[in-house]
Amino acid sequence: MLIVVFLLPTLASRAYGELRQPQKIKTFLWKSCKAALPTKASLVRRKLGTDSLCPICGREDESMEHLFLLCHGPKLVWSGSKFQWNKGEASGNLKSLKRCIYLKLDQVPRSEIIVEQRQFWQNCLVAVLIDDGHVKEEQLAGSINKYWLMQDQVRVVGRKKNTFVLEFNNPFDMNFMVEEGPWEVQNKLLVLDHWQPNVILDEYKVVSFPLWVEFWGFPLEYYSSYVAEHVGELVGEVVQVDFSDQGFRNLRYLKVRVNIDPSKPLLMGFYVLLDNGRAIWI
Ligand SMILES: [Zn+2]
Repeated sequence: MLIVVFLLPTLASRAYGELRQPQKIKTFLWKSCKAALPTKASLVRRKLGTDSLCPICGREDESMEHLFLLCHGPKLVWSGSKFQWNKGEASGNLKSLKRCIYLKLDQVPRSEIIVEQRQFWQNCLVAVLIDDGHVKEEQLAGSINKYWLMQDQVRVVGRKKNTFVLEFNNPFDMNFMVEEGPWEVQNKLLVLDHWQPNVILDEYKVVSFPLWVEFWGFPLEYYSSYVAEHVGELVGEVVQVDFSDQGFRNLRYLKVRVNIDPSKPLLMGFYVLLDNGRAIWI
């Protein structure tokens, strides 16, 4: 409980409202942060009492610092809690105590809160529009729900410039979007990937994304998965080759899925030297 006491002054009152504690405790916490608890020292200060001594030890004034930190009673409580510190860490005033508790928070409660939060973000994709222009979030949500024919609605949770976070209700929809992407929205490329823990939207960069690439104009005997893979490597890392020499064949182009690095210029074509000496542009 004391953990929250000293966190509260820095949290908005909204956070106070969200505290899952009985009202009695919430009131106590609120008063503690406002230093509005009727300690004996504060009563004497307000001329509402004459004796300011701590009733537990009788050695010092019962101030907030003494009550929560210095007296042997609270020390026993602290020693039984997860939040322990050495004498040197908290120098006896509320400010340093607060700083100590922040440090200790790294250990237990924060991780629990964060794990709970992650359940929501696991249903999200990070989507980057590869374009400098501005697309409104309503436009993006509208296009997605109109053209992508998902089983469930997709919601735009928020954005940072052209990086959006999309929430999916249906995991099949979500995986489909990642596996079949990137997609085109308003004539711009939308690259999607699963949300990962500890992602900072401000720093988020698309390192690579898979793209289907078609190679047109090859002579018939060049239609093979070997050639497809070979030419695919000229564009990027080959992920998949779409080629079958069974049944009705696609004789228009070779199709390869490759990982593209968006920071590099896309290969627009290349020459292939045939064994009759002719060079063709693919
Ligand atoms: Zn005392």
